[in-house]
Amino acid sequence: MCLWGISVWFEFFKELAQAYEVLSDPEKREIYDQYGEDALKEGMGGGPGAHDPFDIFSSFFGGGSPFGGGGSSRGRRQRRGEDVIHPLKVSLEDLYIGTSKKLSLSRNMICSKCSGKGSKSGASMKCSGCQGSGMKVSIRHLGPSMIQQMQHPCNECKGTGETINDKDRCPQCKGEKVVQEKKVLEVIVEKGMQNGQKITFPGEADEAPDTVTGDIVFILQQKEHPKFKRKGDDLFVEHTLSLTEALCGFQFVLTHLDGRQLLIKSNPGEVVKPDQYKAINDEGMPMYQRPFMKGKLYIHFTVDFPDSLSPDQCKALVAVLPPKTSSQLTDMELDECEETTLHDVNIEEEMRRKQSQAQEAYDEDEEMPGGAQRVQCAQQ
Ligand SMILES: [Zn+2]
Ligand SMILES: [Zn+2]
Repeated sequence: MCLWGISVWFEFFKELAQAYEVLSDPEKREIYDQYGEDALKEGMGGGPGAHDPFDIFSSFFGGGSPFGGGGSSRGRRQRRGEDVIHPLKVSLEDLYIGTSKKLSLSRNMICSKCSGKGSKSGASMKCSGCQGSGMKVSIRHLGPSMIQQMQHPCNECKGTGETINDKDRCPQCKGEKVVQEKKVLEVIVEKGMQNGQKITFPGEADEAPDTVTGDIVFILQQKEHPKFKRKGDDLFVEHTLSLTEALCGFQFVLTHLDGRQLLIKSNPGEVVKPDQYKAINDEGMPMYQRPFMKGKLYIHFTVDFPDSLSPDQCKALVAVLPPKTSSQLTDMELDECEETTLHDVNIEEEMRRKQSQAQEAYDEDEEMPGGAQRVQCAQQ
């Protein structure tokens, strides 16, 4: 369906009336047959193929384009068929290594027996529902000299403008002009392609007579990876160290997306702090169409602290670790302090609870307009 802007349509309507005057003259009409289409398309302001001026002519002047012949004989008319879009799930490994996937799709192909005519004889009749234009038009009056036109494909002939005699129908396609065929497409997933990237097979969508075949478009959808996260050309992994590893060094093996075993180890004497990041150059994702260039592999460290230590363990640690700041307090300073007790808290849960309590109190105030004032009085 095609909806026209009101003002555009009004201007165009005036132009059409003039054009039709000229075209009634056989001599001038011949010139317009050659040059008129482009001229008209320019006047419409739409892109090529966006709207077909012939539809307007044929529908407005009672069928049969003034350019000669009925709607069905407009060989110049080339609609563009719709693109067919398929999501294609791929793993992060697929995007790292590159792969190809063979996919079997069924699509409409022009019937080979009748070459898309739909009939044995090649003849067809003009559709009575749309006088062969393939389109039906409804007009709405929006005010004086303002009209809006709605165009939609004819339902009787599915927009083709023609019907076929029952006895003359092509036996292979039953007059449908197209037949369903299976086709195997090989989708090449290149190294470094991104989630959401499109892979296009031009002109591989459903074929239809008098139509430029649309494209089949695959849209890559990367499946979540259990270990690696991707951001652009970089990869991220999480790794948890024990406190001993964080303090005294570590090494571990990381299996990369292509199966290589990477040995990852700390530098001698290095301490890794909780929430610290480290990076390995050139072990990220390969760059699309420059697969020899690679991003970084980031490792995010979490340190697993022990829940408690025995007095002996503490004594041993104190002996080797930097001195405690608390031991610098004198007895006199301590005498002046008050004793406190530290409790364990789940801070996220506590904050959530406090927020919902505040919300409840607010809701109560809303219900009782005097509430706020009463609080104020109580405070005085
Ligand atoms: Zn029709
Ligand atoms: Zn056929």
